[in-house]
Amino acid sequence: MTKYIYEFGPKKTDGDAGQKNRLGGKGANLAEMAKLGLPVPPGFTISTDCCNHYFDLNGQFPDSLEAQVSAAMANIEAQMGMGFGDPDNPLLVSCRSGARSSMPGMMETILNVGLCSATIPGLIKKTGNEWFVYDAYRRLIMMYSDVVMEKAEQVVPKDGMGIRLNLEMMMSNLKNDKGYDNDTDISTKDMKALCDRFKKKIQEDLDEAFPDDPKGQLMGAIGAVFKSWNGKRAVSYRRIEHIPDAWGTAVNVQAMVFGNMGDTSATGVAFTRDPATGDNKFYGEWLINAQGEDVVAGIRTPNPLNTDTKNTQNHHLASLEEAMPELYGQLADIRSLLENHYKDMQDIEFTIQEGRLYMLQCRVGKRTATAALNMAMDMLEQKMIDEKTMVCRMDPKVLDDLLHPVVDPAEEKTAVQVAEGLPAGPGGAWGQIVFTAEEAVKWAKADKKVILVREETNPEDIEGMRAAAAILTARGGMTSHAALVARGWGKCCIVGAGALKINLADKELRVGTRLFKEGDIFTLNGTKGVVYDRRLKMKDASENPRFQKFMAIADTYRTMKVRTNADTPEDARTALDFGAQGIGLFRTEHMFYGTDSDRPLFLLRKMILSKTKTERENALSELFPFVKEEIGKTLAVMDKLPVTMRLLDPPLHEFIPQGRKSQQEIADALMIDIEEVEKRSDLLKESNPMIGHRGVRLGITYPEITKMQVTAVFEACAELILDGKDPRPEIMVPVTCNEKELAFIRDIVLDCYEGALEKYGLEAIAYMYGTMIEIPRVALIADKMADYAQFFSFGTNDLTQMTFGFSRDDIGSFMNDYIDNAILNFDPFETLDQEAVGSLITTAVDRGRQTRPDIKLGICGEHGGDPASVVFCHKAGLSYVSCSPYRVPIARLAAAQAAIEDA
Ligand code: PEP
Ligand code: MG
Repeated sequence: MTKYIYEFGPKKTDGDAGQKNRLGGKGANLAEMAKLGLPVPPGFTISTDCCNHYFDLNGQFPDSLEAQVSAAMANIEAQMGMGFGDPDNPLLVSCRSGARSSMPGMMETILNVGLCSATIPGLIKKTGNEWFVYDAYRRLIMMYSDVVMEKAEQVVPKDGMGIRLNLEMMMSNLKNDKGYDNDTDISTKDMKALCDRFKKKIQEDLDEAFPDDPKGQLMGAIGAVFKSWNGKRAVSYRRIEHIPDAWGTAVNVQAMVFGNMGDTSATGVAFTRDPATGDNKFYGEWLINAQGEDVVAGIRTPNPLNTDTKNTQNHHLASLEEAMPELYGQLADIRSLLENHYKDMQDIEFTIQEGRLYMLQCRVGKRTATAALNMAMDMLEQKMIDEKTMVCRMDPKVLDDLLHPVVDPAEEKTAVQVAEGLPAGPGGAWGQIVFTAEEAVKWAKADKKVILVREETNPEDIEGMRAAAAILTARGGMTSHAALVARGWGKCCIVGAGALKINLADKELRVGTRLFKEGDIFTLNGTKGVVYDRRLKMKDASENPRFQKFMAIADTYRTMKVRTNADTPEDARTALDFGAQGIGLFRTEHMFYGTDSDRPLFLLRKMILSKTKTERENALSELFPFVKEEIGKTLAVMDKLPVTMRLLDPPLHEFIPQGRKSQQEIADALMIDIEEVEKRSDLLKESNPMIGHRGVRLGITYPEITKMQVTAVFEACAELILDGKDPRPEIMVPVTCNEKELAFIRDIVLDCYEGALEKYGLEAIAYMYGTMIEIPRVALIADKMADYAQFFSFGTNDLTQMTFGFSRDDIGSFMNDYIDNAILNFDPFETLDQEAVGSLITTAVDRGRQTRPDIKLGICGEHGGDPASVVFCHKAGLSYVSCSPYRVPIARLAAAQAAIEDA
């Protein structure tokens, strides 16, 4: 017989905290607390395996379950000296969900199971408290009808209003009619009548009687908790948190203890340290004469646990410390015991029944980024944990919150959401919406804060994107143009908010039935991907010395280097401040997008639209000084550190002039007419530009473009060397598909190198030559590529695009459907697909090393800043990851954690 049930309690405990996979977090910790001798009411956990079998059997319990439940119930009865369904001395139980990792509020709970017409009189007699019994009964009816009879049965409410809402309305009407302020004011007679009316309403609406036998209630509740694993809320939470569907939930059945048995009873929740600041203070809330749900439901303002927890809203209310000092003392002792045992901040739930304290839950408490940092550092200083544990205590993803201004979470709770999209650029920002880059620039110049809202962005929008406080697009994925650029700048950005319908002509925007005009104010939470319709407060999260110290300790464990993707001296400096150890990707084309790039962009266009080699060489020689200067500036900032200079990559049509005015300027410069400009532009257009004339292919067709760029690199280096500096360029060829391309370009590089040495009278310039790995084909022939390449850099944006055959700019239209249907567990442009893209990487690593054992290996796709992908890169043996400046600390921490876990 498969064992599905694990008991816990003062007499017998089967599980422990190590069995989260089988018992869920709640069950495992209840078992652990019971083993520690804490006052845990007896109960049992039904395993997650049972949940999975239940689904395999199409919603039937496995054969032996009922017998196992009966046996375990008998043990609870014996320990409590009560009987489930016993008319004289009835035992009631709670039935709660509990997944492997906490999914707060996403699944269901049913309390007071076992109350029915047979047991009500007995409980009244025993407690001498008729009001309490009918209050417990109405709570059971409300929860059970909602969870078991409606949601689990997938009943769609007729009027859109579920049974629970209907019952809640009946209760609040009663309170209004009779002038009751609080639930506790309702008379016993009214409460009893309300229960009868509830049951009638259930029969009417759900066409079924409320069950009156304890055993039926219990099995119904267990099944409904299992089913809540597949409830709407739970499923969407799992998608967001990447929790596998196959985990299932456990069910915890436990003897009820009551916090609502009068004024010597109470219930509360507490954190062993302050979850918002991390301060080493016992922090919590409690309510006298209440059940647990009342504390979280926000109907009554909860009392502060102690003096430390008093604030402006609750300072007038008695603390537990004041009202029940002895019990508070007992709870404070449990706090120390739990912290010493778990060596981490715990979130606990407790109930006091007639002067006796019971522990109902403990788990590692959720915390803000600031609190996580402070607690980890404090616990290290208190010698509770060692350095490695401290480094692993901080989730790299939350570092974003420490480094960017963020939307005030308190205000966000009450704000109205306009739309949702992908969280492309972190932090928060507010501003007036505008729909074109030109307007963004204009408004910003007039000192207005703007949010640039576009269908999608393209390089022409760059000035407006710079000028805007945040960027919002209706289309595009995590590696679309807007996302890449915004993240590079650390700018708040949401992409792919498909609900936005932009009407450029009328300068307005529709979302469903709502209409917004240019100038209306939005707030964006770029960390979550949510858009709000008014100005929300921001919280500043500036650098703090504790964070620096934390990162310095993390760095001592890290073995992989962290570089940055940067293409301006400013971004390079920002990245250095964040701890970057070089540049892993300098996208040369970006020097034609940024501020003050009008002239170089113009010359680039002139070059692109040249027809003859002479025309093109003339344009290139005009362009040369700009390119050399820009490259030199960044190399100077990154003195002594490696800088990977990538040769021009994007398809040329991205740069062709759009407006009449810029077309005319080019026509004048080339001494041709505007029709000819249009004709030449048309010739550059491609059906599939992403797999068109880009990357190394441009250098094969127009070697003079490559020559100009490489000469610029070497001459900039030569001048820096003569100036006493030590530049370390690495010339990188993009979008290669075979080794002959590398041989072709290498000849140009060697020529330019010799030329520069001669021109400046130098002996040598230290440089490397290598390639990006972006096309599956070259990953498979990496041994041949390594004949020419001294380094590989995995361009996982394109490698993902080409491996999946998903266009990186168009995934917005279908990715959500893939995630919702669990066809993919995550967006592969965000988190590296280890199965296939990862396998191409490890293949390329192996084959590259066969030819060149000391080949330098890095990654410069967006995945270089994604913690899970960084862990993969560590395991694959890469020497560095490269990511946008604001992600450098995230990558540093993820790499340190990977090294610690590896050791
Ligand atoms: C890549 O493809 O991963 C890459 C870094 O290059 P880009 O994003 O510029 O195509
Ligand atoms: Mg690429």
